[in-house]
Amino acid sequence: MQLPLARPVLNELEAKEVARVIRSGWVTQGPEVEEFEAEFAGFVGARHACAVSSCTAALHVALLAIDAGPGDEVITVSHSFIATANAVRYAGALPVFVDVDPVNGNIDPSQIKDAITSRTRAILVVHQLGMPCDMNAILGIAGAAGIPVIEDGACAVGSEIFVANAWQRVGRPHGRICCFSFHPRKLLTTGDGGMLTTDEPALDRKFRLLRHHGMSVSDRARHEARTVVLEEYVEIGFNYRLTDIQAAVGRVQLRRLPQVVERRRALAARYHELLADVPGIGLPVEPHWARSNWQTYSVRLPAGRQRAVMQSMLETGIATRRGVMCAHREPAYRNAPWRCVEGPGSCGCGPTGCRRLVNSERLQDTSIALPVFHEMTDEDQRNVASALRGALHG
Ligand SMILES: *Cc1c(COP(=O)(O)O)cnc(C)c1O
Repeated sequence: MQLPLARPVLNELEAKEVARVIRSGWVTQGPEVEEFEAEFAGFVGARHACAVSSCTAALHVALLAIDAGPGDEVITVSHSFIATANAVRYAGALPVFVDVDPVNGNIDPSQIKDAITSRTRAILVVHQLGMPCDMNAILGIAGAAGIPVIEDGACAVGSEIFVANAWQRVGRPHGRICCFSFHPRKLLTTGDGGMLTTDEPALDRKFRLLRHHGMSVSDRARHEARTVVLEEYVEIGFNYRLTDIQAAVGRVQLRRLPQVVERRRALAARYHELLADVPGIGLPVEPHWARSNWQTYSVRLPAGRQRAVMQSMLETGIATRRGVMCAHREPAYRNAPWRCVEGPGSCGCGPTGCRRLVNSERLQDTSIALPVFHEMTDEDQRNVASALRGALHG
């Protein structure tokens, strides 16, 4: 493969920091994790940041922290990586899928209100592919109904939203909690890893309990105590720890992030130019109040062309991926409970489709993600553009 879809930026700086932590003798949820949390909170502008083992773990912890459980409904999108919907199921709540905007693939705020019932416990929005959701609209609707908003910011580290007359980073947070992923497909990677941010001390304390078996004192506090400390396990928690080895990588990645975001914004701008006159394709659109980190650059093709275009590009050595999946169409959701805005059973919601999730399904079936990575050259981008043009019209 000449051109991969993505490639993480990792080098000797990370390797050196990993060696330092290994030699220190403290390798999990210790001082390095604390430093990473403080630096991450500072970067996004949040009061608290709590590191965990993945964004999936972060989403689970976030839902438990706001007491989502059996009998509750969580309004979210089907059109996301499956971890978003799965986290709702882990908590025992019912996912209520709302359709997305036909262009940017984010939750359509105008459809949220109809999905709210007396059982709605949270609205879980996704900043899909790094493009911020319309948080002003979402927070207005959620605020009027008194429902907490959780942000799945897995892809959106370094993205910005214009709120209250200023550019603010995703994760400040704008809802009550924002969750991030540090998987290698995201802009900041620790191999695997995740982070929760919040401004509420009580929520942050809850995250720390849940990620560490419900244990009442941290390992570090116990280690440093001058008197014997006996811990208690105050509730059923999990092992969702991030290691200090991962945190050391994350700290280097965080320092490099502004540069990585800037580079991706330039790559996206160049794709806009190169693809502007290709007939029949839809380019991603950045609203005037959003600055995407362009975790993914995804274009919409005419119906029925996705697979053949991907195959043709593959044959010229260019990797692509189909559009974001839809959880409701996967076998795992065939028997798992979920509903759309019309209520269970009333619209024939099922694996073959849901007539209320038309934009979600269409985006999955017609979008493709193009290669974007830090070291990509202008020649690489021109090759992608001409391969795409050839695949569609050649
Ligand atoms: C990647 C991703 C996740 C899962 O993140 P992990 O860190 O791999 O658990 C969740 N939601 C979205 C939208 C993602 O893109």
